Amino acid sequence: MKIVILTGAGISAESGVPTFRGPDGLWEGHRVEDVATPEAFRRDPVLVQRFYNMRRRFLLSGAVHPNPAHLELARLALQPGIEVTLVTQNIDDLHERAGSAGVLHMHGELLKARCEGCGETSGIREDLEPATICPECGEAGRLRPDVVWFGEMPYFLEEIGRAVEAADWFVSIGTSGLVYPAAGYVSVARDAGVRTLEINLDESATSGIFDDSLRGPAGEQVPRWVAGIIAAR
Ligand code: NAD
Ligand code: ZN
Repeated sequence: MKIVILTGAGISAESGVPTFRGPDGLWEGHRVEDVATPEAFRRDPVLVQRFYNMRRRFLLSGAVHPNPAHLELARLALQPGIEVTLVTQNIDDLHERAGSAGVLHMHGELLKARCEGCGETSGIREDLEPATICPECGEAGRLRPDVVWFGEMPYFLEEIGRAVEAADWFVSIGTSGLVYPAAGYVSVARDAGVRTLEINLDESATSGIFDDSLRGPAGEQVPRWVAGIIAAR
């Protein structure tokens, strides 16, 4: 059985990582256009670096841990006869910490930097400053967080599209259904005859397209769903 799972900020909410759109429509107090676009980075690289430095410090602070939803998805992938493709919009590393391998980070990773000079990526755990030197090419001032900003092309699109079309199940967990192309995968799945399930605390923008839904916190609903799949086999 092939299962493609798409996770969003909601799966990390119970780990203490704030979701994207708070009730005030802001991401950690910032307008998205001010911190998550290439224009913002060109205009004010210091502000943008500081924003991601804060996210990275928090992620590495010891206060953040994978929750049962991350852990159970890793367990699901180990079941014989089940092939999981785990796609995430999240830039945190909580799936990896839970034991998942081969996660497709379509919006990049907070713990990686990319050099706009040589194009190489490198692992990063420290703050990025405008003067930070690229470990690959030695140039200063060309490193940026390896995250996909609004207006940029997400990673792994072909691979994800192929996996969705070939799946038996498409499961979306804790995503708002507002950020494309990720929000379009449920339609790709439906058109290919793939069974679709949404797990979310609330209705999302695409809830109406899914065949099935489980409402509630991911930390409760994901373990219940995984237990059901394993018991049914
Ligand atoms: P979003 O914040 O726009 O939406 C979060 C969704 O999760 C909502 O539909 C909400 O109802 C649901 N949700 C909240 N708490 C939940 C819970 N406990 N259990 C289940 N569902 C819950 O998130 P998005 O759709 O993923 O889009 C956000 C974008 O911002 C992504 O592209 C991502 O790159 C970035 N982002 C990432 C992180 C992270 O890495 N953890 C955090 C914030 C933003
Ligand atoms: Zn470089």
